[in-house]
This record gives sequence, structure tokens and C-alpha cells, in this order.
Amino acid sequence: GDLTQLKWDKAPCRFCGTGCGVNVAVRNGRVVATHGDVHAEVNRGINCVKGYFLSKILYGQDRLTMPLLRKKNGVYDKQGDFTEVSWDEAFDVMAAQFKQVLKEKGPGAIGMFGSGQWTIFEGYAANKLMKAGFRSNHIDPNARHCMASAVMGFMRTFGMDEPMGCYDDMEAADAFVLWGSNMAEMHPILWTRVTDRRLSHPEVKVAVLSTFEHRSFELADIPIIFKPQTDLVILNYIANHIIQSGNVNRDFVDKHTTFKLGNDDIGYGLRPDNPLELKARNAKDANGGKPIDFDAFARFVAPYTLEKTVEMTGTEAGWLKQLAELYANPQIKVTSFWTMGFNQHTRGVWANNMVYNIHLLTGKISTPGNSPFSLTGQPSACGTAREVGTFSHRLPADMVVSNPEHRKHAEQIWKIPAGTINPKPGYHAVEQNRMLKDGKLNAYWVMVNNNMQAAANLREETWPGYRNPDNFIVVSDAYPTVTAQAADLILPAAMWVEKEGAYGNAERRTQFWHQLVSAPGQARSDLWQLMEFSKRFTTDECWEPQVLAANPQYKGKTLFDVLYRNGNVDRYPVTDLADGFANDENAAFGFYVQKGLFEEYAAFGRGHGHDLAPFDAYHQTRGLRWPVVDGKETRWRYREGSDPYVKPGTGFQFYGNPDGKAVIWALPYEPPAESPDQEFDMWLVTGRVLEHWHSGSMTMRVPELYRAFPEAVVFMNPDDARARGLKRGDGVRVQSRRGEMLSRVETRGRNRMPPGVVFVPWFDAGQLINKVTLDATDPISKQTDYKKCAVKVVAA
Ligand code: SF4
Repeated sequence: GDLTQLKWDKAPCRFCGTGCGVNVAVRNGRVVATHGDVHAEVNRGINCVKGYFLSKILYGQDRLTMPLLRKKNGVYDKQGDFTEVSWDEAFDVMAAQFKQVLKEKGPGAIGMFGSGQWTIFEGYAANKLMKAGFRSNHIDPNARHCMASAVMGFMRTFGMDEPMGCYDDMEAADAFVLWGSNMAEMHPILWTRVTDRRLSHPEVKVAVLSTFEHRSFELADIPIIFKPQTDLVILNYIANHIIQSGNVNRDFVDKHTTFKLGNDDIGYGLRPDNPLELKARNAKDANGGKPIDFDAFARFVAPYTLEKTVEMTGTEAGWLKQLAELYANPQIKVTSFWTMGFNQHTRGVWANNMVYNIHLLTGKISTPGNSPFSLTGQPSACGTAREVGTFSHRLPADMVVSNPEHRKHAEQIWKIPAGTINPKPGYHAVEQNRMLKDGKLNAYWVMVNNNMQAAANLREETWPGYRNPDNFIVVSDAYPTVTAQAADLILPAAMWVEKEGAYGNAERRTQFWHQLVSAPGQARSDLWQLMEFSKRFTTDECWEPQVLAANPQYKGKTLFDVLYRNGNVDRYPVTDLADGFANDENAAFGFYVQKGLFEEYAAFGRGHGHDLAPFDAYHQTRGLRWPVVDGKETRWRYREGSDPYVKPGTGFQFYGNPDGKAVIWALPYEPPAESPDQEFDMWLVTGRVLEHWHSGSMTMRVPELYRAFPEAVVFMNPDDARARGLKRGDGVRVQSRRGEMLSRVETRGRNRMPPGVVFVPWFDAGQLINKVTLDATDPISKQTDYKKCAVKVVAA
């Protein structure tokens, strides 16, 4: 075609938390090409295979273009068939259902399940609509399945969320340790940076730890396969080794850390009557948060000797010693990376705390190349789920609903009456499904996620809630996902560059893009949907009479008026929009919606260590890493000279905690919720593959990506297959106590499984592995453990 007709602009990639920059070419109102942005610091012009085919996610054959309501004989009926309706009719029915629930059961029966794929503006608007408008804290993002353990890990150690380091660590480290992270497939562009560092600096070492051998092992100098859950043992062994070998950085430890005994929360987050849960709760007393000293910590980890670690983990002593030496040797700068192997873990928070322990004991933190670095899965898990605070217990900028000061602060910024925000944390992701099933949550809005494919134990605990006759379920999505098909009303959503957006990646980088094309048909952004829906409710229907009596100026106002026409959000005129880019929300509401929402949101964090730059700065840059103070981004937090919040002369300050010190936690090994036994004799691990992102709802619609990995398979050790009379390609059933899935055996390819462990990816809507998984969660973070449950594999 004629290249002169192409109009190029920048955007972050739609998929993973790496946050690569892409250039997007538009012709005749259609995105026709993307390529890696050479000006983007993150990826320097390259993309992974998903990024290369990004433009095609917009144009799947079955893109949703009209609202679809289940109807029978012309009216809404839960047993009816999906029928095209106008937005007016869709919102009329939806509002009537929500109002009935509000009237009969109150705000506690209204819920929302959102996402780390919401733009920052959308997550912020949704958080306000739920927590301030409907007065329900039952809003949670699917980031609960992904990042919640990392969040709680950060909060418990540092009193503040998100990594202290940044991607620049990859060019400065002497060693990389991957803890339960297959970066080669899940963060491929970051992996190219690690690979580049390793191959151009022969002295650099890479250690990879996992429960099976995956693609990242191709670069491993120190390959470690451990028995599921025993990463906790290895972490304590390393702490013990650092102490025993005399490599504790006592100066750093004395000045900048305190010690606490953990072991506080008990159980596996299963339903209270579950036998596994009963056993766990009876086995142990809560015994946590107690201050201890260095010597007590040293005694605590002393039993984690090399011999004991070899015995418990099934790992070779030589590799373990080499790994421990990387951390212990004061000359080696170490960056540790982790993702779901740590976070999706019944002791995910502990695993996060324990890796901080070893960085803190050695003082290998907050300096270039020395970084404990939690990677994110979704494009805005940091930006939207965490920073905006769309979790059921949170408010923006690390604040929580249970803290009266935090609520007061939020109510002031939001200009809503004191006492509007409910002090009780809402239902988290797994609990929401249980409450839907039990009929306690009745009006439910799902946006930009595919929980009917993603939630664990979905046949027993998720599906029944969606089809519970007492419930009204709304799903906003771009495609008819499994989740959408389980809904009562489907709302067609605009995606990616069909709207103006902002994402925050894993290194605290906030990135913006403009709306470049229109969404097809009647599809509208989640932001438009939230704001338009809010017009149908008045404060009298949603707020308590005594609050309105004390604040008569709010009486009779719509939620739209009080939440979005509050003098903050509607403060910027549409003419502020640079360069004549289209913006459907501005056209619909008459003000610069995104700028108003962003500036109101930014007020939460400015001056509190979460400073964001002025809105316009982000359209002009390839993102900035917060805190941004006086126009300058921050690469390493908590260190003098790099972080503007650290006082001169202190060296380091972990200012998230009142005493400015980070906490080293004494935490034990604890067994997993479910382990293989005679009947269910294998471990099941689930996860992603390079070609598909999450549930595949976008990438399975890209022909090239679909062909590259068309269906899920069961990766299995060849001896395990033989012992069951199976060979590569044979049909099998993967069965657990909860359900089964039909698939095919794969004994070769990218993953080499140790005996007794199978890996099944979850991207395939035709093979729902989450019918099999267990809904056990970390008792602190409430994040599900998708990496461990007991299954058997039999011929189909
Ligand atoms: Fe980069 Fe991730 Fe997009 Fe690949 S999927 S191009 S690694 S942001």
C-alpha cells in the first residue's frame, strides 16, 4: 500500500507487564501495522511475537459490536437467548436489576470484578463508582490472581508497594536469579536484555529455579528443579548460609532493618468446612508479628542446613551452594526476578518477604544491579490494580479502606460526605465467586477479564454463581469469552487504541496513548460505560438517609454529578486535547475526562512518595517512573541521591515504614494445601505460553499466534507417560477431586517435566484446566495457588 497515507503514533503494548513501546500505523480509520518503538527505553525497537501481531487483536471475526441481553418473549429472562439491544435498553434493564438489589439487600450485594488491563482512568472511575457511589467495597481486580502476594510482600517488608529497582538493573547486575519465573516466555523482551547481559559478559551468572525445566533454563548456569513448595526451604537456607559464612552486611542491617517473627495467618483460604482447611487451621496457632532480634533470626533459620535443604527439595547440593554464594559474596551484584511461581503460592507473601530477607541481610538492594524485582503479568497490574487501589481493601496510593484517616483523605479528594466509604474490606476474587454461588452477591459487573476461564475450581465455585437464578451478571468485553457467555448481559467494549489510555508497567513507568481509531459498531470503552451507567442512579438510591440529611447539597444528585462532575474531573475543557486526536469520552461528556480523572487521582500520591507527573507530560514522553518530582523520574527508590524522598546523610531510608527501616521476617516452611497421594498421584502446574496472553481471548484470534500454539497440551515426563500406557499425542483426561479436562500428551517440546509433575497452559477456552485446579489461597494476600494441586492423568 501507499505508506504516505499511514499515520503513526505511539502506544504501550496491550499485553504483558513488561510495557514495551510500539508504533501504531493507522490508515482509513484502521490500525494496519505495529512495530517496536526505537525510542522506547524498555524494548529499544523490538517486540516479542505477540507484540508483532498486536494490530490483529482488534479485528477478530467475532468482535462484539452490540449489547446482548438474554431475552425470552421480548423481555429479559435469565434462561433466554442473547438478543441484540440498544445501549438504552441494556442500561435500563441493568439499572433496574441493580436498583432492586440495592433496595432489597443494600450495597453489600453489589460487586464488580475488574482488571489490571483497565486503563488507569477506567480503574479509577470504577473504584469511585463502587466505593463512593454504590458504597460497596466488593470490587477486586483479576490482579488478585496475579500480584496480590507481591503487594502484601512489599507492604509487610517496606510499608510501600512496588519495586525499588528498575529495568536498568539488567545492565548492571553480575547475577540474575529467576525464582518461579519463566522470563523467556512470559517477559520475552526483558529476557533479551538479561540474555544480552549474560552473553556479552561471560562472568555474569544466571540461576533459574522452578518445579520443571522450561525455556529459561537454556541460559541457566545454575539450574535448580525443586519439589513444589520447597522454594521456602531454599530461601531460608540461603539466609542461613549468608549468616554462617559471615557475609551479613551488619552495618546495613543495623541501620536499616528490624526483625519480626511471622507465621501469623493460618489456613489455605478454602471454604471453612473443606477438610484441607480444617486440618491446616487445627495444626497451628497464629503466632506472628512479634519483634525479635538478629540472633533470634539466626537461630530461626539455623535448622535450614544444606543437608536438610537437599533432603526436602530434592535438589543437588552443588547447585544450592553456588546459588547461595551468589547472594553471600559481597562482590556480586544480584537481581532476583519472580512472577507467578512465587505469587501463586499458598505462602506467596512469605516467599516475597523471604527473598527480601536475603537482599536485606547482604544490603544488596536499591543500588544499580542489586534488586529484588517482582515482575507483573498484566499491562497495568501496577498502574491500575495497585496504584489506583482497585483491590477490595484498598484506596489509591497504598491507602486502605479500614484506616479512618485514609478514608477521610479519600472522601476529601473525592468531595463526598464524611462516612460515605465503607470501612470493611470487600470480598476478594475467590470470595466473590463463593458469594455469588451462595446468593449473597446478586448484581455483578465484570470488566476486561475472563474469570470463567481464569478462576480456580471453576466448575464447582464459579459457574454456579453466574448461573444462580438470584443473580444478574454483566460482562463487558471485546469478544464473546467463556465469561461473557455465562452472563445475562454482554456489553461490547472498545479496546487498546480505540480509546485514550494509560498503563503502569512493572518498573513503575506510567505510559499514555491517544485514541487512534474508533471502536467497531456500538462498542464503547469501559470508561464510557461506567460513567454513562452512573447517570442512572441518584444519591437517594445509594447513600444512607442520615448522610444525605447532614449533607443536603448532595440530595437528588446523580452519581455522575457527584463522582464525575465534581469540579475536579470536569475541570479541563475538551480543547485541551492535543493535536486533534479523537476522544469518544470527551465528545460524549463535554470535558477532558481522562485528564480530570488523572489529575484528581494524582492528588492522592503527590507529596506521599507516589508522585505522578502532570498529565500532559506523559503524552510527550515514553513514560516516566514514579515518584516524579520536579520533572525528574526515579530509577532506584529508598537510596540517597537517587530517591528524592531520602534525606541526605541517611544512605537509605525505607520510608514506607514509620521507623524508616525494612522488616526481615522469620518465616518457616509450610506444606502446600494439597499434595499428590495414591489416587491423585501427580502435581499439576498451570501457566502461560509465549504465544498466548492470559486466557487467549485476544491472541487466539490472531491467525499466526493461533497456528503457532493452537490448543493446550499436557506436558509430561516420558517415563510417566509410558508407565500409564500413553505416548505423545494420545488423548488424556486430567482429573482432580474437583473436575476433569480432556487434552493430549506432550512429552517433548519446550518443557521438560520431572517425574510426577505435569504442566498444562490455561489459554485454551476449549480445554478449561481451571475445572481441575484448587481454589486454595494465600491466607494473607488471598491470591490463588495455581501451581500446586494433585491430579491423575488417564487415557481418554
Ligand atoms: Fe513486550 Fe510483553 Fe508486548 Fe511482548 S507481550 S511486546 S514482551 S509488552
